[in-house]
Amino acid sequence: MIVVKFGGTSIGDAAAIKQAASIVASRRDRKPIVVVSALAGITNALIAIGDQASKGHLISAVRSVEAIRARHLEQAEALLSGTSGCTDTCAEISAMCDELAHLAEALSTLGDATPRSMDMVASFGEQLSSLLCAAAFQAEGLAATHVDARLVMITDDHFTKAEPQPDAIAEATRAHLLPEVTARRIPVLGGFIGSAKGKGTTTTLGRGGSDYSASLIGAAIRAEAIEIWTDVDGMLTADPRVVPEARVIDKIGFDEASELASFGAKVLHPNTIAPAVRLGIPVLILNSRRPEGTGTAITFEAPRRAVSAIAGKNDVTLIRVGSPRMLLTDGFMRSLFEVFARHKTSIDVVATSEVSVSVTVDDASRLPALLPDLRDLGDVAVERNRGIVAVVGAALREGGQHMSRAMSALGDVSVHMLSLSATGINLTIVVDDNQVKPAMQRLHAEFFGNGTA
Ligand code: ADP
Ligand code: ASP
Ligand code: MG
Repeated sequence: MIVVKFGGTSIGDAAAIKQAASIVASRRDRKPIVVVSALAGITNALIAIGDQASKGHLISAVRSVEAIRARHLEQAEALLSGTSGCTDTCAEISAMCDELAHLAEALSTLGDATPRSMDMVASFGEQLSSLLCAAAFQAEGLAATHVDARLVMITDDHFTKAEPQPDAIAEATRAHLLPEVTARRIPVLGGFIGSAKGKGTTTTLGRGGSDYSASLIGAAIRAEAIEIWTDVDGMLTADPRVVPEARVIDKIGFDEASELASFGAKVLHPNTIAPAVRLGIPVLILNSRRPEGTGTAITFEAPRRAVSAIAGKNDVTLIRVGSPRMLLTDGFMRSLFEVFARHKTSIDVVATSEVSVSVTVDDASRLPALLPDLRDLGDVAVERNRGIVAVVGAALREGGQHMSRAMSALGDVSVHMLSLSATGINLTIVVDDNQVKPAMQRLHAEFFGNGTA
């Protein structure tokens, strides 16, 4: 069995969905389970609908719902017209869009969008795409069957970033997916969405979470491989939108891929690796526009390179806690980390000195409540508008030459914090937010050259 996941652009229109069907057909013998994202752009549109409706802009929200309906119906017509499933699928798409419009109305009456209702709104993207793709795959001659992902992806009720419950997912997989595979059918389900254990309320795994859904299902069925089909040739030496000359990495270790994903390589959701690595399931990143390519294989047996890739991310907040009296006292670090844990804010990078600790966080939404608790421990300074660039590779472990090359390549970019991960494969550098791109470009040029080197 394998898991085959298609991202938003890989099912963005009728031609892409047909292409996805032919990729699935070519894997029929490997008993695929298909996970799909929402059609490209739809999740953003849904979140905007939730925002608009809750602010009372019901007309524009409903107009956007109608645009979503039109887009899905247009693709359904293009893919299904003349088939027996056409009328039913179009009716189901319309019924879902009616439900979405009612939800928007309710939000505008309430004037408030809770994380719970935002998850309900955002879930329509994958509800619609999985229905559409299952019907389209059938029309292309595949024995596809639509499965509501909420039956399988059981989570806690931490809305907008729900925590999957692996035992419950394994049990649900046995009940809802394996019988289909045994009967030689191909289950098609939405990524990203789930339901709260024992309650059934709709949840989501966080933005970009369909990759994570794919690997959780892959782990539950002990898949031979998890294939992530996307719009680039694999995992590259940098984001090609920032560094156009970035090159494909043919094989990379789970540890390095995980560092890259955590520090901005959006091609993979950062949580995707964990379920796969536990069982040693290879994760393959492939381009759905060029299925003949070999992509990137993420496995244990990858060659070690001096530097494998550069990643970068924006919108990072740096927090410095200075406490000359307490820093080295027993339990100080524990108290510090407890404050972050209590406020459900995860720390990315840490650096300490004799008298201060610096940490970075991605999600600063809970800082208003967190900072007063932190001030009980010492003097606190908050620096917003920071970003991180990361250099990932085996040679950093040895420090020396590669580290100094990285620093001198940065030239006049100001560095606010520096940290080498415990495994020694990731050098993270905190810079000004607007310096992330140039820093990535300079580091890439230093380690990979500008052209075909
Ligand atoms: P999907 O919709 O298929 O999940 P995403 O947009 O989430 O696709 O991820 C693919 C994008 O990730 C690429 O278009 C690329 O711009 C970006 N990306 C960032 N870093 C990397 C990298 N190191 N390698 C490849 N792609 C990257
Ligand atoms: N559709 C969701 C998002 O845009 C999940 C995903 O694409 O992976 O965040
Ligand atoms: Mg993605």
